[in-house]
Amino acid sequence: MSVDLNAIVTQRVELTPELVVVRIVPDGWDLAHFEPGQFAVLGLPEASAKVIRDDHKIGFVIQEYDPSDADPSASPNGKPNKPDKMIKRAYSIASSSEAQDYLEFYIVLVTSGQLTPRLFALRPGDRVYLAPKFSGLFTLEEVPEHRNIILISTGTGLAPYMSMLRSQLVCQSPQRFAVLHGARHSSDLGYHDELSTLAHHCPNMSYLPTISRPKDEISAWHGEVGYIQDLWRRRVLQKDWGFDPSPENAHIFLCGTPGMIDEMTVELTNVDFKVHSRKNPGNLHIERYW
Ligand SMILES: Cc1cc2nc3c(=O)[nH]c(=O)nc-3n(C[C@H](O)[C@H](O)[C@H](O)COP(=O)(O)OP(=O)(O)OC[C@H]3O[C@@H](n4cnc5c(N)ncnc54)[C@H](O)[C@@H]3O)c2cc1C
Repeated sequence: MSVDLNAIVTQRVELTPELVVVRIVPDGWDLAHFEPGQFAVLGLPEASAKVIRDDHKIGFVIQEYDPSDADPSASPNGKPNKPDKMIKRAYSIASSSEAQDYLEFYIVLVTSGQLTPRLFALRPGDRVYLAPKFSGLFTLEEVPEHRNIILISTGTGLAPYMSMLRSQLVCQSPQRFAVLHGARHSSDLGYHDELSTLAHHCPNMSYLPTISRPKDEISAWHGEVGYIQDLWRRRVLQKDWGFDPSPENAHIFLCGTPGMIDEMTVELTNVDFKVHSRKNPGNLHIERYW
């Protein structure tokens, strides 16, 4: 076993065959502090087992590494990678920054991808690489006090918001938080129960999930339907809050599919929200996964 695999999977909750929440614990070293919204880097060697779609059943099976089957697309020159070459990717931390003994991640399977089929083959007790330093500027650090916070995401773009809410939501405060989360199906709405409970107990927290494929639902879905952009244009948040979010009273965060980010950026900059960067502070914060 490679010495680089410095952390252990302690929990794996499968929401759907293509969506998991995993907890990872450093093995014999301490986690550094991170700011909610930041990301970590996870890695596994090329020679790790991976999940592949099972042609006979609906779902996936774990396939052990076969050296003759090394994936040529993993290397830019088309030659198979070395089996011990580490494949590394960034993942937003979903756990609270108060939880100092583990990190939680919310990950979607990219069946054609390099790392996620290997991450999905991990079971509790398996080892993984966790980079010891965390990075990222997609945090609440530069939001001025008392501004309302609107957290907009599709799919696993919800992950950084879970960390922010778990670490920084203060119920009963005049500062409002809203989570707008879009997914295809209700079963893809990770953290639905936790967010519904938070919204139930915190009068300053709104949770507005929407699904884009209501016809596929096994039982009737009574919530919002359509894309996040539709939810925004229908002014669902305004109705919930009773006032308009504006560049003066709110900071908006976007994380998820490129299409959602691009459309929402146009929509919001048209009403004078300004994209934030460290050099040019604004009130529209964007995290792109790809
Ligand atoms: C700052 C940052 C934070 C991230 N946080 C998360 C996270 O919390 N959860 C998470 O699942 N992913 C996250 N990602 C994406 C992650 O780093 C990988 O790109 C993703 O897991 C695919 O890796 P792969 O090796 O399997 O695919 P690759 O072989 O790297 O293939 C990449 C392709 O997969 C597709 N893709 C990448 N990410 C996704 C996704 N989330 N949903 C659908 N398609 C995707 C895109 O088409 C992309 O071009 C984050 C990326 C960044 C830059």
